[in-house]
Amino acid sequence: MRRRVPGCPFCEADQLEPLLLAETRRFALATAQRPLAPGHLVLLPREHLPSFAALLPEADAELRELLGRIDAFTAGELGLATVVENWPSESEREHAHAHVLPDPHGRLLAELRRAGGTAEPLGLIPADLAALHQRGGSPVFAWRAGQAWALLGGPRPNQGLHGWLAERLAAQGVPPPADAGPDAVRRWRRAWQRYRRDSGGPPQRVVTCFLRRDGRVCLFKRSDLVESAAGKWHGISGYLPDGADPLEHALEELQEETGLSREQVALVRAGAPVPLGEPAERPPWLVHPFLFELLSGEPRLNWEHQALAWIDPGDLERYDTVPWLPHVYQAVAE
Ligand SMILES: [Zn+2]
Repeated sequence: MRRRVPGCPFCEADQLEPLLLAETRRFALATAQRPLAPGHLVLLPREHLPSFAALLPEADAELRELLGRIDAFTAGELGLATVVENWPSESEREHAHAHVLPDPHGRLLAELRRAGGTAEPLGLIPADLAALHQRGGSPVFAWRAGQAWALLGGPRPNQGLHGWLAERLAAQGVPPPADAGPDAVRRWRRAWQRYRRDSGGPPQRVVTCFLRRDGRVCLFKRSDLVESAAGKWHGISGYLPDGADPLEHALEELQEETGLSREQVALVRAGAPVPLGEPAERPPWLVHPFLFELLSGEPRLNWEHQALAWIDPGDLERYDTVPWLPHVYQAVAE
């Protein structure tokens, strides 16, 4: 299980999940909570780590792969991005995160290199950062156009990176985004899904859990806060990060969305993944269905749901569900 810290805005699912564009096994890409420019995204380790230097060495390939996708995505939207790790003050121990900012001419990176002292190219990103950290350089990770850098020492301003970036962007004439609300998040999510589809990546994988007790199945009515299918009845569902284990992730989603721990449920069946979408060779979605028996406790609602109902599975078609739910249920039904 990854390490989380209660109260951390990047660890609290209620705060991070509505902003997510993509997740891999170790990393998440989200729209910024306080965007400084249109297309401002945040790249972060899913685990609560103090800095990118604290990543395990084996995270390198996964990080580079995701950064490559970020390069391709941003280049196709508002121009190639500069990625720079937050530089917290010495006393702060917060969740490591890096700002992804469209920077088509590389001016932001040039200014960062001036403000950040010397810039060293990195080979293996976490290992090299950790080595520089050991030597006391308090390195900050930066990335642009496929090249990884460590910004070392230098006269970093006291106001923190967010404030410094706001000043620099204003000086460059980059307007703050006109819209930073849910509509903007939806727009960037759609753009990311489009990029993902057009770039021929693997299908988006999803886990969907059905909770059963005394022969009845629990459906959850999606709230108005969710991005898709608001007001529809659904199982417990979520995107499966690339490289993550489906069952492990299903148990995490159950915990996040219903508060039920893995000791309170028993896996009845893991169905074969169900492809959804147009009958193309490459399905846009692949759903991993799971049926769990509820052993103890009661599911609770989180922000994603406004109601729950225990129903006879034979009545599934009578509910206004997410359209593919009855079809996917068949994959785990007895
Ligand atoms: Zn955290």
